[in-house]
Amino acid sequence: MKTLLSAAGETISYKTLIIATGARVLRLEEFGVAGADAKNICYLRDWNDSRKLVDIMAECRGGRAVVIGGGYIGMETAAALVANRVKVTMVFPEQHCMARLFTPEIAAFYEEYYKKRGVEFIKGTVMSSFESDAEKKITAIVLKDNRQIKADMVVVGIGIRANVGLFEGQLILEKGGIKVNGKMQTSNPSVYAVGDVVAFPLKLYGDVRRLEHVDHARKSAAHAVEAIMSPEKVQDYDYLPFFYSRVFTLSWQFYGDNVGKCVLFGNPEVQKFGAFWVDKGILMGAFLEGGNKDEYLRLGTLARLRPPVKDIEMLAKEGLAYPFFPDVKGKAPSFSPDLSVTERSQVLLDTPPSYILQLSAGIAAAVGISMVAVWYAKKRRRW
Ligand code: NAD
Repeated sequence: MKTLLSAAGETISYKTLIIATGARVLRLEEFGVAGADAKNICYLRDWNDSRKLVDIMAECRGGRAVVIGGGYIGMETAAALVANRVKVTMVFPEQHCMARLFTPEIAAFYEEYYKKRGVEFIKGTVMSSFESDAEKKITAIVLKDNRQIKADMVVVGIGIRANVGLFEGQLILEKGGIKVNGKMQTSNPSVYAVGDVVAFPLKLYGDVRRLEHVDHARKSAAHAVEAIMSPEKVQDYDYLPFFYSRVFTLSWQFYGDNVGKCVLFGNPEVQKFGAFWVDKGILMGAFLEGGNKDEYLRLGTLARLRPPVKDIEMLAKEGLAYPFFPDVKGKAPSFSPDLSVTERSQVLLDTPPSYILQLSAGIAAAVGISMVAVWYAKKRRRW
């Protein structure tokens, strides 16, 4: 039996251990910013953070907030602040928001949308210090170039770090996370890890990644449990990267990998547009703003199947209607063996009715044959 020693001195025995320590926010103090312990600075990672943010936001109605960081937290809290009648200035070091995923063209759409709602952007710089009052409340932030921006509150979303500290020297670490195999098993076979904290083999692209998202957290957790409960049955984790966000009345989803050439389609003016990333003639990633359920399902299927794309101009013109599987007549599109039933059915929506008829007939025949086989086996047992 293995044991775990808690900080309180308690010894807990276990057969299998699952690490789900997640991540912590990066704090401004770590960048040498003085006064970062002020009362009206908010981070957003846990329940207490969100309570504090909501309370301070309520006190600041009609006032001004500075949002530090142009990623998920920055964009989502800025939208929430505006909706709560707080005027927002965003400050981040890149040339556009959501730099990890968006291209300048995609970012321009969202930034324009925010600007129309009064949000100001200060890009390509970082803050250096705060001005505070006697009560230790921030009154302004000071930028690297000495500009001052008045603030009644500050929200900081400058990224996270995986919580691996406890395991240093005990488990193999990689890419800032705990290294796991396709069963979410760490370098210690009795110890599994899931979520933001793991660096896992991304089967689809043949490399190792650490992904920060709730969808991967849920799926990797379910996978670890399956691997522990039914090790003989479970396949290697085969995750399709998925990210989404909802701000104001906007909503986007992204599946796959944002590598290669980005091809835009649709019409940003009516808030319905998207992008495909095509690398070496293969569709690798797909983004869509303002899609419906079916379109988002199709987006995921395409990123999973990675069809070849021959005509980039036509792709830009047709978007999701591009004929990704042009020669499926009478022949199955190449299903990846690990596709889920919903993903498979969506691929069928791309295929002509003649093929679906053949496939349905094929499925009916297969079901019929298995029923006969079961009946025959039962009968033999009785003999
Ligand atoms: P992020 O990585 O999305 O963005 C960090 C931002 O901070 C970037 O714009 C970066 O350039 C900027 N930055 C870095 N150092 C800075 C500095 N010194 N000064 C100013 N800006 C600086 O991280 P986040 O927005 O903090 O989000 C934290 C985590 O929460 C992430 O894992 C994110 O995926 C997750 N999250 C996800 C969602 C969603 O999926 N919709 C929503 C909220 C949070």
